[in-house]
Amino acid sequence: MKIAIIGSGISGLTAAYYLHKQHDITVYEADTRLGGHTATVDVTLGGHSWSIDTGFIVFNDWTYPNFIRLMDEIGVASRQSDMSFSVSCERTGLEFAGVDGRLALLNGLFAQRSNLLSPTYIGMLLDIVRFNKQAVADVELDRIDRDITLRDYVAKHHLGKQFMEFYLIPMASAIWSTPIRQMYEFPMRFMLPFMYRHGLLSVSKRPKWRTIVGGSKSYIAPLSAGFSDRIRLGTPVTGISRQQDSVTVETAGQVETFDHVVLACHSDQALALLTDATQVESAILSAVRYQENDVVLHTDIGQMPTNSRAWASWNYRLRPGCEDALPVVTYDMNRLMGLDSPARFCVTLNNTAAIAPESILGRFNYAHPIFTQGGVDAQLRWNQVNGARRTWFCGAWWGKGFHEDGVVSAIRVADALGASVAEL
Ligand SMILES: Cc1cc2nc3c(=O)[nH]c(=O)nc-3n(C[C@H](O)[C@H](O)[C@H](O)COP(=O)(O)OP(=O)(O)OC[C@H]3O[C@@H](n4cnc5c(N)ncnc54)[C@H](O)[C@@H]3O)c2cc1C
Repeated sequence: MKIAIIGSGISGLTAAYYLHKQHDITVYEADTRLGGHTATVDVTLGGHSWSIDTGFIVFNDWTYPNFIRLMDEIGVASRQSDMSFSVSCERTGLEFAGVDGRLALLNGLFAQRSNLLSPTYIGMLLDIVRFNKQAVADVELDRIDRDITLRDYVAKHHLGKQFMEFYLIPMASAIWSTPIRQMYEFPMRFMLPFMYRHGLLSVSKRPKWRTIVGGSKSYIAPLSAGFSDRIRLGTPVTGISRQQDSVTVETAGQVETFDHVVLACHSDQALALLTDATQVESAILSAVRYQENDVVLHTDIGQMPTNSRAWASWNYRLRPGCEDALPVVTYDMNRLMGLDSPARFCVTLNNTAAIAPESILGRFNYAHPIFTQGGVDAQLRWNQVNGARRTWFCGAWWGKGFHEDGVVSAIRVADALGASVAEL
């Protein structure tokens, strides 16, 4: 069959990888490079070159089985990373980090030694322990109410304001790139199983995090080698219409006909391309919205916590009066990618004006899905749009927004289109 694939992020490339052996595929990519959020940047500093990830960075050995199988199949190596999290509050000055290892953990949690004597701070730590226990039991017994939000869950279990504002919200807001105010309404039926599966509800039982050797872009060439002659870079699709026995794909210069189309772009981009979207397609695709993040690669350590004992791989900055703003997170790329560089490479989300201009090495824009209960309900309607009218959809937005979700969504589509691949 002749199949058009729109988008070359992990979802589009995985769909193409599994489909190209049986079918005549064409991959359309709007950008002039492959990879979407897999975006490693090469930087030369002090005579040395460094490959630094600015989008997709890490995966782990618990929750990425399909991505790991794919990397093994194409022979891409990975290395152990360090996953740790810190919070700095500009209003109160509070800074702490959760770092692996007993001593490192104590050092990070009590980065500010005065907190050893702070009943409020100790209360927050005790709430973390209580929340973890409660959440584990709720997930294991499958007893999380369908509509319970983060705010209601915290109130129901009498967890403190400190715990919510300085721990739970920053962590979840960083994971899903979601503004604080929206986090209060975040569906716990979506959040808690995710935290459980990623070991975020335990101090000792945690997955091992990894990064791709040489940066995440290292997997793109081997993954696309089998169909490199079937890729059209710098070719944004402008419209898709469906007929009884074919699909028409329009680009600036051409109109082409296929048997099927796979939209491996974001939900909002996919909807905008369908010139004849059905009501069901509109309802499902518009239920998961995307939000742009301003992403800067730089070497300004002023974006890290003031107290270096509180430095972690992910550093969340709480700013007063910014509840509706996108979260400010700085990734310590040296720590995450194991770079032995005299400069500290940082990737900061949504704080561009505060970064020393002379330290900026690159600026990017990546949109991330915003999850609501409506979006979660829409994901359950996969069957209602996939395959209907010769049209298929994949993308990380069908899951929790991460690389494994992109791979799984592509496997589902490839499997339905006759590729011999099963989801693990
Ligand atoms: C800053 C940041 C860090 C992240 N870090 C991680 C991480 O460490 N681990 C993790 O698992 N996930 C991470 N993610 C999540 C990441 O978004 C997903 O893992 C995944 O890469 C998304 O893949 P995708 O294929 O769904 O979309 P994308 O990678 O966005 O790919 C969509 C592609 O479609 C193309 N496209 C769109 N419209 C058209 C059109 N009209 N015509 C042709 N092409 C089109 C786009 O140009 C793009 O290349 C991160 C996200 C961000 C923003």
